[in-house]
Amino acid sequence: MKLLLHMCCAPCSIYPVSILKEEGIEFEGLFYNPNIHPIEEFKKRKENVEIFSKIENINVFYFDEFDQERWENFDDEKQRCNMCYTTRLEKVALYAAENGFDAFTTTLLVSPYQKHDLIKELGEKFAQKYGVEFYYKDFRLGFRRGQQQAKEMGLYRQKYCGCIVSLRNR
Ligand code: SF4
Repeated sequence: MKLLLHMCCAPCSIYPVSILKEEGIEFEGLFYNPNIHPIEEFKKRKENVEIFSKIENINVFYFDEFDQERWENFDDEKQRCNMCYTTRLEKVALYAAENGFDAFTTTLLVSPYQKHDLIKELGEKFAQKYGVEFYYKDFRLGFRRGQQQAKEMGLYRQKYCGCIVSLRNR
């Protein structure tokens, strides 16, 4: 199986990467997170994914799309997060299907602060739509371990989810 790993940030990538390697799964990464605001924060998280990927020898595709205005226009958190996951997971599923991957997954599944069930539901929906498999694992088991390792590795650990609204509300 060749898998595409959506990477939201470096700390959240640590545990899923260790599991994929343990299981002997061939994989590459994709950084597509237009929800990270402001631009300085976007650059910092992207840079740290680059540093981590170099250490782990992972080939990663990067998209520099940044879209603060779209996220600012959602007052309702439920609708905003739904749009946020939908935007990212649909792009990942489509990219996987168009570029010869059998499956995809996301490091969003590692955080206990994310809407885990919704991410799973949307991953499965787009897997079906684009004819690729959604590799589901409850990566939350390794969240603390990943955060600790990120600290030891000197990686940047952000204090809020990503969008400008989550920054204002933290
Ligand atoms: S809180 Fe997090 S998941 Fe929800 S819209 Fe903002 S960045 Fe996306």
